[in-house]
Amino acid sequence: MPESIQCDLLISGGNLLNTDTAEIYPGSVAIKGDTIVAIEDVPSNYVPLRHIDATGLIITPGIIDLHTHVAGGIRRPSPYVEDMMQDADLAGVHSGVTTVVDAGSCGIANIGSLVNHVIPSAKTRILALLNVGSMGVNRIPEVTSALDIEHDAAVAAIQSRKDVIVGVKARMVSPGVSALGFDLPRAAKSIASEAGVRLMVHMGDTTGQSDEAIDIAPRILAELLEPDDIVTHSFTGARGGLVGDDRALLREAIDAQNRGVKFDIGVGGRNFSFDAAKRVLDGGLKPDTISSDVTLQSRYAGTSFSQVDCIGKVISLGFTLEEALVMSTRKPAAILGEEPERMLGCMAPGTHADLTLLRVHEGAFQFIDGDNNINHGPYALEPVSCIRGGQVMPIDYGPRPQGWLPDSL
Ligand SMILES: [Zn+2]
Repeated sequence: MPESIQCDLLISGGNLLNTDTAEIYPGSVAIKGDTIVAIEDVPSNYVPLRHIDATGLIITPGIIDLHTHVAGGIRRPSPYVEDMMQDADLAGVHSGVTTVVDAGSCGIANIGSLVNHVIPSAKTRILALLNVGSMGVNRIPEVTSALDIEHDAAVAAIQSRKDVIVGVKARMVSPGVSALGFDLPRAAKSIASEAGVRLMVHMGDTTGQSDEAIDIAPRILAELLEPDDIVTHSFTGARGGLVGDDRALLREAIDAQNRGVKFDIGVGGRNFSFDAAKRVLDGGLKPDTISSDVTLQSRYAGTSFSQVDCIGKVISLGFTLEEALVMSTRKPAAILGEEPERMLGCMAPGTHADLTLLRVHEGAFQFIDGDNNINHGPYALEPVSCIRGGQVMPIDYGPRPQGWLPDSL
């Protein structure tokens, strides 16, 4: 008999997602402290303090949501004061998501509250992108003129906490994009370059007013973005997105992806259209990552209810379950970098014990886009458990009256 090996947690009987091969096959995971110590055929001499029976469940590396709004306390002052931030752990571990990126809720005027108060008190790993507009989304629109962008202060803010502020976010919306044109994304890129971080650009003028947004979209893709910069809202139907006024995919988008620019879906309330998605996919561009763009409003009123709902929505467009899960684990992890303290998006002995346990339901589920169109998909995902740094996290009831699952036929 081999000597017994003590571990803290054994998850057995489940199906593992291999994010390198995009395959799912039976296997177990043993965890000690915050680290995976054995995986797949865990030897029978591993003796756990706690055991989870994962029969019928898929075990994935901790799900990553690359675009959320979790900077608690940011409110929209007009037309009436309204909270707009999702609770970080509700977007995160209580929804089966171990890492979230707050995508530009805060600018230099208010990022301190995210960094000093929200991040340290959350169980979820939170990273942040600094909004190019000094006020962040506390005032929408956050950029109305060049006075709303303070280059030196933004660079200093990022450099003060580069461990958590990992990029810059700029939204190509009116009136900022009308007033500044290409100077708006160029100013954001200049901050990101000087601070040594990536840029995420929200493409698509949700107000629909700006011809400049149309004019600068190809230039952003061709002239501005570098490898590992990110376009979010890849499936928006708004003007200035990846679909031009001729309703075809901008050819510059394919060239940009070939150069290493990353394309994120960023579902959001109004930034996802099934029609635009089909045009982008027909044009030959497959986005790299799935994210929710969840806010307090979108969680309950739609149309971005949760990251797992967004994964089901993307599968409804023809993606396989396996590739959609890789787009929510290894691919966003690769964008965030390979620093050893992160080591996200994969499961192997020695890697950080962030895991998500999912139950996949089969049926004909109704997914909804920002224009209230419905697409039926074959799978809906339900988070059952979530392990963050070796600790088992409770899962919330879910955003809908019936819990996690969308309506079905
Ligand atoms: Zn957003």
